[in-house]
This record gives sequence, C-alpha cells and structure tokens, in this order.
Amino acid sequence: MSTPKKGNLSPSEDELFVVITAGNVQEASRLLGCKDVRVNCLDEYGMTPLMHAAYKGKADMCKLLLQHGADVNCNEHEHRYTALMFAGLSGKTDITWMMLDAGAETDVVNSVGRTAAQMAAFVGQHDCVTVINNFFSRARLDYYTKPQGLEKEPKLPSKLAGPLHKVIMSTNLNPVKMVMLVKENPLVAEVEALEKCRRVMELICEKCIKQQDMNEVLAMKMHYISCVLGKCASFLKDREDKLDGLVKSLLKGRDRDGFPVYQEKFLRECIRKFPYCDATLLQQLVRSIAPVEIGNDPTALSVLTQAITGQVGFMDAEFCTSCGEKGAEKRCSLCKMVIYCDQACQKMHWFTHKKVCKTLQEQREEQEAESAEMRLQQSREESEAVKEATGSMRELSVEANGDAPPSDASDPSDASSIPAADN
Ligand SMILES: [Zn+2]
Ligand SMILES: [Zn+2]
Repeated sequence: MSTPKKGNLSPSEDELFVVITAGNVQEASRLLGCKDVRVNCLDEYGMTPLMHAAYKGKADMCKLLLQHGADVNCNEHEHRYTALMFAGLSGKTDITWMMLDAGAETDVVNSVGRTAAQMAAFVGQHDCVTVINNFFSRARLDYYTKPQGLEKEPKLPSKLAGPLHKVIMSTNLNPVKMVMLVKENPLVAEVEALEKCRRVMELICEKCIKQQDMNEVLAMKMHYISCVLGKCASFLKDREDKLDGLVKSLLKGRDRDGFPVYQEKFLRECIRKFPYCDATLLQQLVRSIAPVEIGNDPTALSVLTQAITGQVGFMDAEFCTSCGEKGAEKRCSLCKMVIYCDQACQKMHWFTHKKVCKTLQEQREEQEAESAEMRLQQSREESEAVKEATGSMRELSVEANGDAPPSDASDPSDASSIPAADN
C-alpha cells in the first residue's frame, strides 16, 4: 500500500470520515473492509481516522480503528498533533488510555513544542494529564523479566511483573494504599521479592533521568515506589505481622490533632532521597515542602501527588482518610468529619482516630451551633429591617401590620438521627 498523501482520499475513505463523525461503528467497520479504504489515510489537514475518532471522543470507534491497524503514532497532521494529543484534548480518559496502551509515544511534541500532557493541561483536561503522566506500559516492565546480556536470571521474576505493574499504575500515591497493594499479593509481600522489585524501580528511575527525553515525573514516581517497597521489606524483616505494623505507623496520628506525623516524615524523606539532585522537579518539591511545619498544609503527599499525577487539590472530591482513594462516601457516624471507602478502611484507622473523634465531634457541633446562631441573628436583623421598611410605608400598606417576621430558621440539628458507630 502506498504512503497516504494528505487529502488524497478515495470516495469510501471520504465516507469513512463522515461515518466516524457520526459515530456509526457498524458502517465504519463495513468500510474498513473495503479494498479502497486505508485505515491510515489522511484528510486534507493530515488527520487520520483515528485522530478524528479520538478528538470526537468516540471510544468504540477508536477501538475498531486500532483493531484494523491504525497507526497510533502517525504524525502527519499540519500542526503535528498525534492521536494521543487529540485524545487528551477530548478529555476522555478511556481513549487517552487506549492510545497509550496501543503504544502512543508520550514525549512527541507538536509544532509549538507541546507534549500531549501539556496540551491536555492547557485546556484543563487534568484527568487525561494524570493518565498520561502515570502511564508505564507493561511491555516496558516486562523487559526486566527477560535475562539481559550475560544475566542468567532476569532481574524481575515474571510472576512479579503483574502485581508490580498494578502498583506502578496506581494514581493514588498514598503510602497506605501502596502498602495495601503489596499486602494483598503474597508473591510480592516477601522480603526477597520486594528487594527485586525495588531494584527494578531504581533502574527504571535511572533510565527515566538518563534517557534522551528526560521524564522526571516518572522517575520520581519510580523512586517513590522503590522507597515504599524498601520500607515494606524492612518491616517484614523485623516483624511477623504481614505489614500491619507499617500500616499502623503510617496512619497513627499525633495526640494533639491526629496528624499522621510518621507518614509525613516518611514522605519527606523519600523525596529528599531522590538520587538526582539536579532534577528540577526535586528542587521544586523541596522548595514547596521545606518551609512547611509538620502538620500544616500542604502535606508532602499532596505536593508529591500534584507533581506526579497533576491532581490539584484534595478538596473537590472525597478522599478516604485511611488509604486516600477517591470517591469515599462512608462518614464516621460520630464526628462526621472523616470519610472512608468502607468499614475495612474505617477499622484500620479507628485505633488512632478514636483519640480525636470526640474532639472533632465537639468542634463540629460548636460550628453548627455557631452558624445556627448566626442564621438566627440574621433573620432577626432581617425582620427588624422588614419592620422598619413597613413602618415607613405605613400609609401605603395596611396589612403590613399582620406580617409575621420570618420565623427562626435554625434547628437543622437532628441529633436523634446519629446512628451507632460502625466500629
Ligand atoms: Zn480507603
Ligand atoms: Zn469520628
């Protein structure tokens, strides 16, 4: 098949672009079976069918095109946009993922020097940025499961590649979550296996720094994972508790306010131990964290998370107090001030939360009482104002006399509805 030229389309190829825009997968499938349809044909702007489908946010269509051999790294677009860039612009994380999984290069730049991640960030598609920045293909990891050069044994036993890849792909960097991921797999939760995984993480970190297109973000992530794995190994050497002690240490809050000091110190140390001192990212992180007193915002975890995943602010979504997973909904029924994924996460945290739960409950009640008082005050003032206004309009309206002032709006406090604690 000849190399496609821009805008040089057969009638069926013309039709394919129309069908893609309409989202008609069946018809697209039929057309792709035609002899005069090339899956990587180019429209007049140098866009491939895959670019169109990605930009339009049509996941099924992208899948179909990839199955038909669409080139995910085609770079003939007039501004040198790639399918991954279009996916990022569309804001569809599933499509972004699909492009990466199909082998899309992340460091290719468009005609003004922006990568796909930078373009997605520019238009505010932060979830796509997260997906791109954290992508590390299984194939890249599998490289270490084969003996290289003179090695007799591969650096990574292949049975560890799956579980390790799961840890690498996690966008939740909370160390508790990472330890949980290690814990859940008996193959990994073992000193020797952890040391091997850790070594591979360090090698990848080094590669990320030394490769031509340096990827500091991924390097930092790999280094961080290696620190967590190292910590797991050292706890496993010392204790027979399957990492429960480590989870506890990471969760334990100080008496004063429940702030997890050990976790904060561990994270700061991980960052500081990043072996490539010249890295801009390292300097940025240290600058943001160093002046912050332990217990204040931003925490090392939030700074690290923002740097690695692009996730800004932990405020706009509900995050589990124990493991940091997004979308936690179960509230502590006593203080109502902390949330968890489920009872397991609440249980894990209770040994330390119980020390501050009562105080938090009192604080909340105080705040509620205060705001109720404020509302009451406000409504009094309003009714005064109404009286004054009606007073000055006495000659106009007679029935104003009978107007009742807005009644006391307070009392949303439904103390009776507090359910029993789940712990
Ligand atoms: Zn949780
Ligand atoms: Zn509580």
